[in-house]
Amino acid sequence: MINQNWWFTTLLTKQFKYCPPLNRSIKCDVLIVGGGMSGMSAAVEFLQKGFSVVLIEKNIVGGSSSGRSAGFLTPDSELELHQLVRRYGTDAAREIWEMPCRGIDRVVQAIKKNDVECGLLEQDSLFLGLGKGGKEAVVSERECRESVGFTDQRTYDESELKGILGAEGFTAGIRYTGTYGINPLLCLQGFKDILIDHGMQVFESTEMVRIEDHTAYTHGGSVTADRIIIAVDKLDRSVSPLAGEIFHAQTFMSVTEPLTDRELGLLFPGGKQMQCWDSKLVYSYFRLTGDNRLLLGGGSALTTFLPGAYNGHSVIRKVIKEFKEHFPFLRDLNFNQFWPGLIDTSRDLLPIIVKPPAQPHLQFILGIVGLPWAAFSGSFAARNILGEAAEDYEKYYPYFSNRRHFALPSGLGKIIGKPALFSLTNSWAKFWQVDAKRKPVSMKDEF
Ligand SMILES: Cc1cc2nc3c(=O)[nH]c(=O)nc-3n(C[C@H](O)[C@H](O)[C@H](O)COP(=O)(O)OP(=O)(O)OC[C@H]3O[C@@H](n4cnc5c(N)ncnc54)[C@H](O)[C@@H]3O)c2cc1C
Repeated sequence: MINQNWWFTTLLTKQFKYCPPLNRSIKCDVLIVGGGMSGMSAAVEFLQKGFSVVLIEKNIVGGSSSGRSAGFLTPDSELELHQLVRRYGTDAAREIWEMPCRGIDRVVQAIKKNDVECGLLEQDSLFLGLGKGGKEAVVSERECRESVGFTDQRTYDESELKGILGAEGFTAGIRYTGTYGINPLLCLQGFKDILIDHGMQVFESTEMVRIEDHTAYTHGGSVTADRIIIAVDKLDRSVSPLAGEIFHAQTFMSVTEPLTDRELGLLFPGGKQMQCWDSKLVYSYFRLTGDNRLLLGGGSALTTFLPGAYNGHSVIRKVIKEFKEHFPFLRDLNFNQFWPGLIDTSRDLLPIIVKPPAQPHLQFILGIVGLPWAAFSGSFAARNILGEAAEDYEKYYPYFSNRRHFALPSGLGKIIGKPALFSLTNSWAKFWQVDAKRKPVSMKDEF
């Protein structure tokens, strides 16, 4: 198995615009630092309003988390709805769920409107319960979906599941609609070309090394802007102390050759493709690509909280072995590429989107878990820095502040280590946190 991101392999058949590194000093209305789904989504807002926009990206657009992801577009990014209901109550959970749903809508509409070729597939979501706990999680998810007013879900017991998924060993499942799969790197590179056609200047292989007031400096030049959106991953402390609020969860992806018609029929006997994940804390997930390859992801408790990328294949081999135990008819399927990826996140798995009070021209978008969340957050942050998101601000801001209530302070990481702090607070947020207080948060609370 080769350690190589499959989505990068797919780039070889395409020709996107070449965006050489910045080598001079320029000025613009808005600078976006970071060309993942968050930064690109923010860029759209500004371009639509006629601002001159520059985007700098240290890799290629989509080259980090976004373009390493499995391309599931589902509102369920790490947090199931029942976990949100326990934490925030029914009304707030609905409000929170709505944000990634808006993000999905934003991405899918843009792909369709602009004919972006990125393997867009409508794939229902199927959450699979393992053992008694998983069965309970499915029941709980159904009850919570009903309580917030959703009607598109359907639950399956072990034997009913066999009609839609040729798997063994899952005790229950819940399925819902409105979710999609994409090749995220082709999607973002496609968006890049369109935004360039609409006047955006993009500089790839261009890392922001420091920021002073309204100017961001790179290795070869600088950009001075009225407003700056920082939508980077792995934020460096030299840029902002907010770096201390961001943690990483490591997951691994793998991909096969295209499945045969027989294998496809056995995998999804009901004829409808789905994107699936199971109920383990470190869960496994799979879906088909546009050309019928199986994408399989997962991790291990040991490597999830490691601060750096682990490039060995032992973890993904174990994920593949367990997958094949559920799908014995795929036992001879060859997985030919794998790649690791570190997902940035906050301690409670919701984003941090803040404007430093002393620097109202700066807006940070950090710790985004999920492409739909990124699409929503970019748009929210852009409208917020323009002072246009008043309604959304009131509604959503208490969830995004870095001063919201977390189980443990970020400073504790200096004593027990960041991975230990993250594993404790992540588990707490997912499984135990109740009644998260929506305390009023004012801009003065930040930093
Ligand atoms: C292996 C893996 C699988 C995943 N699967 C899914 C999935 O199926 N569905 C889903 O919804 N989510 C998934 N995720 C999570 C999802 O990819 C992220 O939550 C999302 O992409 C975050 O988008 P972003 O734009 O905030 O961050 P990023 O995509 O990481 O974008 C930030 C960008 O900033 C750039 N950058 C960083 N520092 C600098 C600097 N100093 N100067 C200039 N540029 C800089 C980076 O190169 C990067 O391109 C997965 C993540 C991984 C790693």
